[in-house]
Amino acid sequence: MHITYTAATTAAPGSSNEDHFAVGDGWALVLDGAGRYPGESGGCVHPVTWVVARLSSHLSSHLTEQPGQPLTAIVRSAIEATAADHGPTCDLSDPLSPGATGAIVRFCDDRIDWLVVGDCAVVIDRGPDGYTTVIDDRVDRLPNAPIVEGQVRTYSPAYVATVRNQPAGFWVLSTIPAAADQALVGTLPRQTVDQVLLCSDGISRLTERYGWSWQDVFALHGTAGPESIIRAVREAERDDPDPRRWRGKRHDDATLVVARMMLATATAGDEA
Ligand SMILES: [Zn+2]
Repeated sequence: MHITYTAATTAAPGSSNEDHFAVGDGWALVLDGAGRYPGESGGCVHPVTWVVARLSSHLSSHLTEQPGQPLTAIVRSAIEATAADHGPTCDLSDPLSPGATGAIVRFCDDRIDWLVVGDCAVVIDRGPDGYTTVIDDRVDRLPNAPIVEGQVRTYSPAYVATVRNQPAGFWVLSTIPAAADQALVGTLPRQTVDQVLLCSDGISRLTERYGWSWQDVFALHGTAGPESIIRAVREAERDDPDPRRWRGKRHDDATLVVARMMLATATAGDEA
């Protein structure tokens, strides 16, 4: 069995892309830059895109060089290495330090491992057995969260500082290595999986806001490719009669990777 990957990423109109994806031999990841609030430095001189790029670089090298390590250990190492990259210019104790939400999938000989932190998602197509959806929605289930009704619904930075990377709050990949231990992780036998989608929340809003099923997403991807999914997101956002009802932006960076298991050794005579 071998794996083929398709992927696409697009910035929200009028902004730079803080999403990122990477694929390697037996793994794929999606990151979505988290942070910076207007008027808040997060204690850091670096752009969010720099933090995302450093996390991706460290995750990619650890996934390639340490295939036997648990994903939580790989993520912990990548957070520590990224923190070291900041250097003395940055205050890593700032609770609003820029970081990323993320989804990682690793394809081993006999199983598939995943790890999700924050609002990225992993969706596993198990053929006749349906879909396994891994979404970390802790940021949307914060108890008694004070919501600011501005141009869009959002949380205030002062509130986020009390719940970000805190027990009973929500977790992101930034400067706290313990965030790795709070990730959603899991495993499935590889032969039960047809394909796996990793995406940022700029894609999963199709199912969370706009009435799509994951079956719809995989079907469109199968016939028209990953760019068609992003076009569908932009159409749904443009047609949204009241985008201010959502926490977050009308448009968001949108990124997906789809990994398909291919039966490389199948022949016409195979009965299995
Ligand atoms: Zn920094």
